[in-house]
Amino acid sequence: MLPARTNLIAGEACAATSGRTIEVVDPSSGSVLTTLPRSDRGDVDSAVAAARTAFDGAFGRLTATERGRILLRLSALITEHHAELAELECLDTGKPIQQARVDITACARYFEFYGGAADKLHGETIPYAQGSTVMALRVPHGVTGHIIPWNYPAQIFGRSVGGALAAGNACVVKPAEDACLTPLRIATLALDAGLPAGALNMVCGLGSEAGAALAAHAGINHISFTGSPQTGTAVAQAAAVNHVPVTLELGGKSPQILFADADLDAALPVVVNAIVQNAGQTCAAGSRVLIERGIHEQVMERLAQRFEALRTGAGIDGPDCGPLINRRQLERVQSRVDQAIGDGARVVARAAMADRAPANGFFFPPMLIDGVAADHSIAQEEVFGPVLAAFVFDHEDEAAHLANATPYGLTAAVWTRDGSRALRIAHRIDAGQVFINNYGAGGGIELPFGGMKHSGYGREKAFEGLRSFTTIKTIAIQHG
Ligand code: NAD
Repeated sequence: MLPARTNLIAGEACAATSGRTIEVVDPSSGSVLTTLPRSDRGDVDSAVAAARTAFDGAFGRLTATERGRILLRLSALITEHHAELAELECLDTGKPIQQARVDITACARYFEFYGGAADKLHGETIPYAQGSTVMALRVPHGVTGHIIPWNYPAQIFGRSVGGALAAGNACVVKPAEDACLTPLRIATLALDAGLPAGALNMVCGLGSEAGAALAAHAGINHISFTGSPQTGTAVAQAAAVNHVPVTLELGGKSPQILFADADLDAALPVVVNAIVQNAGQTCAAGSRVLIERGIHEQVMERLAQRFEALRTGAGIDGPDCGPLINRRQLERVQSRVDQAIGDGARVVARAAMADRAPANGFFFPPMLIDGVAADHSIAQEEVFGPVLAAFVFDHEDEAAHLANATPYGLTAAVWTRDGSRALRIAHRIDAGQVFINNYGAGGGIELPFGGMKHSGYGREKAFEGLRSFTTIKTIAIQHG
């Protein structure tokens, strides 16, 4: 077992005041990896107080350039510890080691991007009355709360905390109880990088306890949440009581649209990766493939061959697909698939287990299905597992209609050689990001990211994410 993990409050490692802990399970083997503090409201109070002290004190006094330099040093430290962090991410989440390496690289990039951006965030001056000067300053919210999910702990920590710190906010993070070892480690590296104590506080615990306490805390000025729609609603409701702005990133049911003129050699590996990456536990997973009728048979055959060639196993062995995060998630995915099959879905292809896969991991080999009605729950709701559902369309209008026919609107991809059609469809799709002849599932530090409809609101990543972590203060001077 790894050493027990601790909270980080005011720069100090500490257990939960209650002394209670939560076990962290290795999804590849089902065995206990380590324990986390099971924090409660009192621990959250301490973390928020520490953040406020830092915001009003040493951290708040730093210039934007100084904050940026600290984040750049943190990025360099993450890169220096890349192998250690990638292995930790792989053990903790079960994801294949090659994906964990990509995630740590992306995390370092977030701190590099936001480190570089910190002193390039400007307000505006506004022409107003004669003899006046008006400035609209971009100022930090103050203390920001960050509720992080278990699917991409390092990446989502980087994109959320990186932007918030760069903009000058002091942070309190409630990482996910299922997987948060890399954010905890990176928070200690932030101290080594010179971040003043209290600017970044980590409070581990259950969502219903520490998470709910953070969302409802009157000392928080902004909340960034990534996770399920149900929890997102609870977080937004709790924040509304304090009139606190929230950024919600709640997942999707993203379509991959294949027209008959698409370059299938380029498209099909991406279509498979978009659902197999992270065992389908990706908010931007490409969980629906919409295929123009003329190429339907050919595409299904080629996709089936690719699915059958995939191997599922322990993350550390570098399989194509790792386990799901926990037993509950495995049962949830299995029951959704069973229900779809009971309602007439057909399993077209299934990946196999790797020879060396441990017996007790939470494995669900990737599956390709068709024969699903477009209004069936498996076509409408997030499965959060490696299950790709195929649909047929006859013309452009139908493709756009099907693409939009879910409650979500996070990302989409259009594959065609007809540039005009690609742009027409891209304009019609209700999604925060539309890719043409490529698909950046989860990537793209520089690209504004977030949803429409039930995928949430607000944007993270890019400069847009940095702006989300600020508010505007207008100063109007009448000087004659
Ligand atoms: P969740 O939304 O409950 O958990 C995400 C984070 O929210 C965790 O840190 C959790 O501790 C915290 N949380 C839980 N309840 C809370 C509350 N009442 N107040 C404040 N914080 C709370 O997700 P889950 O139960 O771990 O997974 C269930 C489903 O959520 C998945 O099947 C998937 O569909 C979806 N999900 C989506 C994403 C995404 O990236 N969009 C990530 C994780 C899970």
